[in-house]
Order: sequence, then C-alpha cells, then structure tokens
Amino acid sequence: MAELEYKLIVGLEIHVHLATRTKMFCGCGLAYGEQANTRVCPVCIGMPGVLPVMNKTAVEYAVLTALALNCRVASHTKWDRKSYYYPDLPKNYQISQYDLPLGEHGYIEIPLPSGTSKRIGIIRAHLEEDAGKNIHTLGNFSAIDLNRAGAPLLEIVTEPDMNSAEEVGALARELQRIVRYLGVSEGDMQKGHMRFEPNINLHITRDGQVYKTPISEVKNLNSFRAIERSVAYEARRQLDEFVETGRTMQTGNKRTYGWDDVNQRTVLQREKEEAHDYRYFPEPDLVPVEMDEAWLAEIRGRLCELPLEMQKRFAGDYGLSDYDAGVLTGDRSAAELFDSAVGKGGDAKRVCNLLTQTGMKIANERGCTVAELGVAAEDLARLAMMADAGDISATAATTIFEEMTGGGGRPDEIAERLNLTQKSDAGEIESMVDEAIAANAEAVAEATSGGKKSKKALGFLMGQVMQRSKGQANPKVVGEILSRKLGL
Ligand code: ZN
Ligand code: MN
Repeated sequence: MAELEYKLIVGLEIHVHLATRTKMFCGCGLAYGEQANTRVCPVCIGMPGVLPVMNKTAVEYAVLTALALNCRVASHTKWDRKSYYYPDLPKNYQISQYDLPLGEHGYIEIPLPSGTSKRIGIIRAHLEEDAGKNIHTLGNFSAIDLNRAGAPLLEIVTEPDMNSAEEVGALARELQRIVRYLGVSEGDMQKGHMRFEPNINLHITRDGQVYKTPISEVKNLNSFRAIERSVAYEARRQLDEFVETGRTMQTGNKRTYGWDDVNQRTVLQREKEEAHDYRYFPEPDLVPVEMDEAWLAEIRGRLCELPLEMQKRFAGDYGLSDYDAGVLTGDRSAAELFDSAVGKGGDAKRVCNLLTQTGMKIANERGCTVAELGVAAEDLARLAMMADAGDISATAATTIFEEMTGGGGRPDEIAERLNLTQKSDAGEIESMVDEAIAANAEAVAEATSGGKKSKKALGFLMGQVMQRSKGQANPKVVGEILSRKLGL
C-alpha cells in the first residue's frame, strides 16, 4: 500500500520546577536527593486545619518566565483546587490555577537547523504545586516520598504548532536555555526539573479528504531523546492504526501513554478523564494575587537578553556559524564572556574557538559554568590577540587558557613563565632558514623542482628550521621566509 500523506501535529504541556529556596505554600526547603520525608511539614503533607501561605518568589519567577515567553500577564489571578485521589497527593487536591492563569497568549521562538526560527504559540502558563513521588523499587510494596510535595511548578501549555519530532526537541531545549538564562530553574532533566507531555496526532489526507487521528498524550518525559523518539514513534503508530482501523477523533477517544525507554515504544495507560472530573473550585484558604504595575515593572526589569536573540546576534554581528553561536549561547556565562572579550578587542572567531574548544570543555570536566573558571574577559581577549599575532601557537593558547583558569595569572606572564612564546623576529629566523638551506642541498633541489616530492621536501626544510629554533619559531613566519628564499 502506498504511503499516506499526513501532517504531524504536536502541542506540549510542560512542568518546570522553579528554583526557589522553599516550597510553594510552606517554609520547607526544596532539595533533591535528600532522605525521604525529611523536607515535610503539616502543610505539605496535607494535615487538616493547616493554612498555606504563598511563596512570593515563586510568583515572581513564574511571571518572569511568562514575560520571556511573551505572555500577557494577568493583573488579577487566583488559586484553584484540582481534586484527584492519588497516594502521592495526601490532600486529595492540588493547588493550581484554573480559569485565571498567570500568563496567556504568548509565544516562544525556537531555532531550526537551517539557522532560521519558528514561532510556537503559548496558550497559558500557570503556577501550581508538585505532588510527591511513589517509589516502587524497595520490594513487594510501594513507598511514598513527600519531599517534592508542594514544590513550585510552572505549567506551560503550547499551541499544537509543532510539526516534527525535531521541532518538539528544539522547543524543549530552547525552554531549558531560557529558564537557565533567567535563573528561575536549574532545568536539569535528569533531576526531573523539567517534565514534558506531548499531545500528538496526525492530519491524514486520503482521497482528497482530511482525517484527524485521536490525540495521544505521552506522560512525564524527562530526556530530550525520549521526547523526540516518543513523538516519532506515536506518529508511526497512529498512521498504522489509522490504516488498520480507520479510527479518527470522531470515533476514538484521547488516550494517555507512557514511554518505555527499554523497548523504545509508547505503552497505553488509560483513556483520559475530562477536565470536570477534577472538580475545580476556588481555593478558599488563599487570597487572590493582585499584580500591580510597579511590581510587574520591577520583575520586567530582571529580564535579560534571551539565548536565541543572542545566538542570532553572534551569528549576524560577529560572523560566527549558527552552530558555533548555538554552542556558545548554550551557557549564559560563556555567551557573556564571549561578548565582553570580543568587546575588548579579541577576534570573534578566535575567542569563540578558545571558549568552545577549551573553556567549555574544562568547565564541563569540572562540572561548573564557564564563569566559575574565573577567566577575565580582558585576559581572554589578550590571549586571542597573542594567538592571532603568532606570538603563541594554537596548542600553547590551550595550555595558557588552562593555566589562566587556575588563577595562574595574565596570559603574557604565563607564556613567558612556561616558555611558550614563539619567535617571530624575522632576522633571527632568517639566519636559521639560511642554515637549513645550506645544510640540505638535496631537499632544496627537490623543493624547488616543482615535482611530486616538492611539497614533502618543503615540509622537511620547515622541520629543520623549527628544530633549530627548538620549536619556538612562529611556523607562519618560517614558512614565509623559506618560500621567499627558495623563490617559491
Ligand atoms: Zn512543608
Ligand atoms: Mn499540571
């Protein structure tokens, strides 16, 4: 059977953990990997009669993110109870926002491989509290850890504007960059700081008519790879199912799936309950949130240049490749260091290479940010200039950079101390070239013959000069003088 023509339609529901010091409605500290049930109090374990108190910082982080996502921020919002029964939710309801979300009608710009970008609509962004965690690995029973219960979560819902698994992955990565730039979340996928739930279906064209397949929601994805693979898998599965059963949105319900990472497939969990099953109603224990102009303006003042804007600026203004600009802006502190080192006279491409090939590598090995390497922008600029002038070799630049991160001093001092300065003094090099030419008549003859071996012979002569300089001559200068002397 011929392949049917179809369009993949994906929207995302995302939960982002906000990196506040304490939980959403109580004073318990947020922590990852602590002993189970040690970060709890009567409020977050749902004892009767306790009263929640709103965490102001969580609201500010949520508003800041909503602004970065170009949302309209509500001047008046409230809290609602979303009722459901689950062992990790001792109150039997979650405090969330229902009809008055904190942000609405925004968009996020996501980078595409072509160097262009695509705008994905944001339907809403609201604040809520997280549930606890069920643990099924201890034996023939389940245990519950409530350390996470009550942690502030920002839920973001996008329009179904993504049309490929790659676009879904790009949105996830871009959102991670944004929350890290804003400092509102560590965005660590492995620690569950960001959880993604794609809603997937197909618009299939057959005999001039469009059929929409029932939506699949894949729950709780916490790696970029799982996000992309589950979307691709569902597209394939839905197409097969349509061919087999002809099931569409009119004849089939929305279903919830999990992702089986071992077998790389989605697994049916249940047919989703409707919103009214949650019996939403206003939370009587919390006052509404009034966001006045002054407060909003203060939060708006904390916005920074966003990663994609920066990436485009680096590519456009400094002529970096989109790839390099993307790598650099993967870490805000690397991007900012690059920006100021170039501002202080370093060549953009050279500074970029030093940072991406050496700086980010070292930071990665040490598990820190580039900023934490403690390299000053002016020193980085100076190092780039030294490499460009041929005062040091590219290898030496790497060594010096490493030394600079340990507080080893200024690049000039380090080059001097480690004897890494190249000789570019033409007079001195000229006499070494003369010696090499005089001592290797055969190679000179071959190099100047223009034959097959001339290139190799020239390389040999280069090597002779470098040896005489004990490796310290600037190879570029040696090459120039050698060519001139040989009349090449
Ligand atoms: Zn608590
Ligand atoms: Mn939610």
